[in-house]
Amino acid sequence: MGTIDEKRLEQIALTRGDLSRYSRQLILPEVNADGQRRIKAGRILCIGAGGLGSPAALYLAAAGIGTLGLVDADRVDASNLQRQILYGTGDVGESKVEKARARLRELNPDVEIVVHDARFTSENAKEIIAPYDIVIDGSDNFPTRYLSNDVCVFAQKPNIYGSVFRFEGQASVFAPHLGGPCYRCLFPEPPPPGAAPSCAEAGVLGVLPGIIGLIQATEALKLIIGAGETLAGRLLHFDALKMKFRQFTLRRDPQCPVCGDAPTIFEPIDYEQFCAGPPAADDWFAAPEGVPVISVRELKAKMDGKEAFTLIDVREPYEYEVARIEGSRLIPLGELETRIDELPRQGALILQCHSGGRSEHAVRILQEAGFQNALNLEGGIEAWSVEVDPAVPRY
Ligand SMILES: [Zn+2]
Repeated sequence: MGTIDEKRLEQIALTRGDLSRYSRQLILPEVNADGQRRIKAGRILCIGAGGLGSPAALYLAAAGIGTLGLVDADRVDASNLQRQILYGTGDVGESKVEKARARLRELNPDVEIVVHDARFTSENAKEIIAPYDIVIDGSDNFPTRYLSNDVCVFAQKPNIYGSVFRFEGQASVFAPHLGGPCYRCLFPEPPPPGAAPSCAEAGVLGVLPGIIGLIQATEALKLIIGAGETLAGRLLHFDALKMKFRQFTLRRDPQCPVCGDAPTIFEPIDYEQFCAGPPAADDWFAAPEGVPVISVRELKAKMDGKEAFTLIDVREPYEYEVARIEGSRLIPLGELETRIDELPRQGALILQCHSGGRSEHAVRILQEAGFQNALNLEGGIEAWSVEVDPAVPRY
């Protein structure tokens, strides 16, 4: 428990109106009057009032959440209406948070709606999240995702992650203080600017953010009432075309720069700027001197020429499930040293990860073990997808 401040909870009582409005969930023993009081005392922030934020905000307001914050600086665009169900045709051109407030008030006037008509930045992030118990990350870009993760780790608030891509979506709860990893344990390095496909570039089936946004809202309610098992330490992946849910166990990285044993990041960073300048974001692991590299185009030429080589993917198993280069073998970075005997010391040994940081680290480990044939695949599977094979999903 502990998601809701107990002192604040003491001030909250249910009214007659509450008892009838929320009767269908009040009769659940896991919720009951105490859970509904917690929901009424709860303060949730939605970063982004778009595809994920719309369904999450609507259902959280309907469920009787006490305070709902919305951060978004955008105006409603006609192309949003296919999935951002907070808005109607007449709202095009208007401020999202203002229109969202009107819609949510109409749905449930008892909910306090706090709007932040601003971009979520390193300047305002800590201040914005301060009054809330839980953050729902409904952002669609990497700088915001890292920012939301980092400030939530600093403030020990659960950060409920969701993302959608074409026909797929995924969700997790990042809350190292409750167990499990943070987002940065999994992806220490933000990809370079422009590498994150937006809905405009990649497309998304309209129902996808509805499903994922509601999974996020579900996790928020569970955290507040203290019922069930949350997605902390698990990644839930949804494939709409196959109509399949899969889950992957996520591990905390003791070397994580924000939640690890010896953190190196203590303040929100302006990731856009950070990502924009050289050196590349993959320098999380980089040492002063580079390691031998091979480009994705050179790798493709090797494949086309049927040359012999060994391609080792050092990412985590759940990443391998999402996207892989044909013919690669998975040995997660953490297992590399114990499985080093499985690797050939002759012929090209190519190491690959998401964008080249972990695999560079892997090449160094191999060099120290006397391997002279290890090469780092520059830009990783991200570059492979962009430059060689767009059929390989980007994430
Ligand atoms: Zn972490």
